[in-house]
Amino acid sequence: DLSHNVILYLDDITVSFDGFRALNKLSLTIDAGELRCIIGPNGAGKTTMMDVITGKTRPDSGKAFFGQTIDLTRMTEPEVAHAGIGRKFQKPTVFERHTVFENLELAMKTDKRVRNTLFASLFDDQRDKISEVMKQIRLDKAADRVAGLLSHGQKQWLEIGMLLMQDPKLLLLDEPVAGMTDDETERTAELFVSLAGKHSLMVVEHDMTFVEALGGKVTVLCEGSVLAEGDLATVQADPRVIEVYLGR
Ligand code: ADP
Repeated sequence: DLSHNVILYLDDITVSFDGFRALNKLSLTIDAGELRCIIGPNGAGKTTMMDVITGKTRPDSGKAFFGQTIDLTRMTEPEVAHAGIGRKFQKPTVFERHTVFENLELAMKTDKRVRNTLFASLFDDQRDKISEVMKQIRLDKAADRVAGLLSHGQKQWLEIGMLLMQDPKLLLLDEPVAGMTDDETERTAELFVSLAGKHSLMVVEHDMTFVEALGGKVTVLCEGSVLAEGDLATVQADPRVIEVYLGR
């Protein structure tokens, strides 16, 4: 029963490591344009779920579809990335010795158009795209700054910008605001809210202030499956969720 509006469809996914079920009949659906937060205690299976979505881990059973027809369980990591799923790990990885502009240029999809390699000048639309992304990630005044000199938060934004250069349909973000200042966290929330609609986002996060600022639906994972789903206030009031967070 796939609505045409679904960007990610996980159904009954199980992943075992030496008999231990990291994911246990996990089912989860994300609509196109949605901004979904994933919360849950350590060991709940959040990383394993993203590994399944990105083709890094093959599930023992279950379905994982991107859009209507793309079967993620049959794809390699590069194929998944190429299909339009961008993943950001927790720690920033940028080219420290290159400028902001160069980082974004390096992240750009390779272009089939022939360009004069001697002068290696960018096409206007490519330059426009980099400018647009620099504005989105609030680094348009830092185009020529070497990435290694950026703050931690700015490096995180730059890496998100590098993902945006690939025009992803779905972004998977693992604890993007960990280590950020309150101000950077707030700006990151604004960025993600502005990206939703055009992109779909799945954000794994522990910072509840940030989750609240994002405002989307929240999925609580526990012991490899979905424990609760709904707006933040509703899941936070759920006795099963309270028990998982406070009862250990
Ligand atoms: P989370 O990201 O929510 O903290 P994980 O997906 O990292 O949870 O882990 C879920 C469970 O699966 C944990 O108990 C973890 O120890 C176990 N696990 C994850 N990856 C492996 C692996 N490669 N081998 C064995 N156990 C693993």
